Amino acid sequence: MTQHQPSPLVDRLRSRLPHSLAPLAELALNFWWSWSPDRLSIFRQIDSELWDAGRQNPVYLLENVSYERLTQLAIDPDYLARVHRLQAQLGSYLQASQTWASHQIPHLTAQQPVAYFCAEFGLHQSLPIYSGGLGILAGDHLKTASDLGIPMVGIGLLYRQGYFRQRLNRAGWQEDYYVDNRFDELPLERLYQADGRPLCITVEIRERTVTAQVWRVQVGRVSLYLMDTDLPDNDSIDRWLTGHLYGGNQETRVAQEILLGIGGVRVLNTLGITPSTYHLNEGHAAFCLLELARQRMASTGKSFYAVEPWVQEHCIFTTHTPVPAGHDAFTPDLMDSYFAQYWPHLNLTREQFLSLGARRLGDPWEPFNMTVLALRLCRAANGVSALHGEVSRQMWHILYPERQESEVPIGHITNGVHVKTWTAPLLEDLYSQYLGADWDQHLTDAQMWAKVDTIPDGELWWRHQVLKERLIAHTRVRMKQARLSRGESPEHIHRVDHLLDPDVLTIGFARRFSAYKRAFLLIKDPERAFRIFTHAERPVQIVFAGKAHPADEEGKRIIQRLMEWCNHPALHARVAFIEDYDIHTARRLVQGVDLWLNNPRRPLEASGTSGQKVCFNGGINLSVLDGWWCEGYQAGPDGKGLNGWAIGEDLHTSQQEAQDRLDSESLYQLLENEIVPLYYSRNEQGLPVGWIAKMKASIRTCAPLFNTERMLQDYALRYYAGQASPVLAGRP
Ligand SMILES: *Cc1c(COP(=O)(O)O)cnc(C)c1O
Repeated sequence: MTQHQPSPLVDRLRSRLPHSLAPLAELALNFWWSWSPDRLSIFRQIDSELWDAGRQNPVYLLENVSYERLTQLAIDPDYLARVHRLQAQLGSYLQASQTWASHQIPHLTAQQPVAYFCAEFGLHQSLPIYSGGLGILAGDHLKTASDLGIPMVGIGLLYRQGYFRQRLNRAGWQEDYYVDNRFDELPLERLYQADGRPLCITVEIRERTVTAQVWRVQVGRVSLYLMDTDLPDNDSIDRWLTGHLYGGNQETRVAQEILLGIGGVRVLNTLGITPSTYHLNEGHAAFCLLELARQRMASTGKSFYAVEPWVQEHCIFTTHTPVPAGHDAFTPDLMDSYFAQYWPHLNLTREQFLSLGARRLGDPWEPFNMTVLALRLCRAANGVSALHGEVSRQMWHILYPERQESEVPIGHITNGVHVKTWTAPLLEDLYSQYLGADWDQHLTDAQMWAKVDTIPDGELWWRHQVLKERLIAHTRVRMKQARLSRGESPEHIHRVDHLLDPDVLTIGFARRFSAYKRAFLLIKDPERAFRIFTHAERPVQIVFAGKAHPADEEGKRIIQRLMEWCNHPALHARVAFIEDYDIHTARRLVQGVDLWLNNPRRPLEASGTSGQKVCFNGGINLSVLDGWWCEGYQAGPDGKGLNGWAIGEDLHTSQQEAQDRLDSESLYQLLENEIVPLYYSRNEQGLPVGWIAKMKASIRTCAPLFNTERMLQDYALRYYAGQASPVLAGRP
């Protein structure tokens, strides 16, 4: 049906292109290009300035580049050959019949795909509908499902203004602002019905019928369907329902989650898709479970409790949040006003309905918790690292009073990253040479990765240095733009040209600025930090990036404190802050740094993935033993880090100050006594051989485990294709 209709956007792009460049239109509309072999230059070469001005968005580029430039390329045999080679590669990728899934889970067919629900998707910087880790993970999940041939569709929301953008004012204070996404310039397509009208679904929200139109984003073989309510027929409040990601208040949040969960099921209905499994990535989409029950009741005539096992059997849930306050929960009043019309369709009383989201069965006065709803109505649930699984079992033990804590049915699948999205092509080239031309077909093979030891030190090092220079160039450009827009003095602006030095040990620290991430740990003793960074022979430099949530004053204060410290004249060349952290900056950072610093308050980092991205590029982790690093870190025979470093130790105390002091002391000691000396100890060729050995250990030990192929294989074999017993058959 809709899938095979001619695409108006492809047609529109083609009509602008010289005939021989027509394949670019199809490439532009499939995010596959962004992890294809020619991703760095196939579009950039068309017009590098326009490419950057449009956030590396191929649709914007092709719509705006001059016809004259296109005709220049159309007669360039080299460029034509590249376009046609890439087109052929996309063609064979899309048609491949032999995939991991076709061999391992042949009974999972395209007729009954997995439906993957998430509030945000981070596929590429050109589609800004993500905020951070959860979205990036969802994007990597879809890309990998495509690579492995796992039949999957994604369900999400298309936000008019996405997540907020960040800039810092002269006082170092974060200012938040929003930018409109122009959907007609993004790599996505509006779907139409057979009669030519836009494909829409409706959902009752706040006693109004809200209409959402449906868009499709192509991610290799996987389609991602996004709902958008910005339609003239909708009430003006409802038009803003999909205005902002994680914006607004609790009312906005519950309304968005109704759209995502209930609307999402209706999108699948309308498209004629009957999933074999619904995978809820975080609790935001859990209302989907209610809609599945309602529809099943309508088609079978059975009661809610009679269809409950059917719902459980079809649904799985991944939780991401290790603190109770991080789970969405709505007051009974709020639930009344949004669901009083809905629960009668489930033939439930108010008490029965509210109990579905209550931590204590039969206590309908508690907030309605989305995680509880998901745990009740899914057949399986998992956390995103071994430690997070443990923490989640502890946190949700209350739902299973008859069981031991260790028997709480929440397992774990540790997160990973999509290798081709995050690895620099310059290193992939090295892997092709030394691990084998088909290295990318064996990403989970530890023996293959062990061959990184055969890479000559000098080869790995010069490539790493080039990537560091790229990071430095990116940092300077972004810092200069920021200073210009703040109207700073010419002298201050020009200083950027000398910012950072490729021969200096370079640390990266980029993540959301919330208090628990403890960005302040490094400057807890400002004098000592100052001595480390400005050492005459063995200096250190650092690049920061990250946003504080608009409502998080404490996070904003941490950024401001950092900026004050950075503004010390002696640190000007050594410390940088890149504003408005996004996928583009993340890629530059993880590919270019020597050392990735992560010091959250344990165990609050559910997994973390940015440190994993670093490993694939030969960077080394310096991190608290939290999240994935708990599993990734290995010590050598001397008890010291083999593949990176572990900061501090868990005092298991609620006294944060004591824990912070201990961790900060450990961080300084590691830098002073191990890390800095190792980095600056060079052989006669000037190579830091000890450091390079650690780079190789980082790749060798982490790469086979912390990639999304291992992760998707786990999900597919354990949850998508297998049948686990229902999590809990409890009922009020
Ligand atoms: C990978 C990534 C994240 C997740 O980072 P963690 O702090 O490791 O969870 C967040 N934002 C962006 C832009 C990323 O690329």
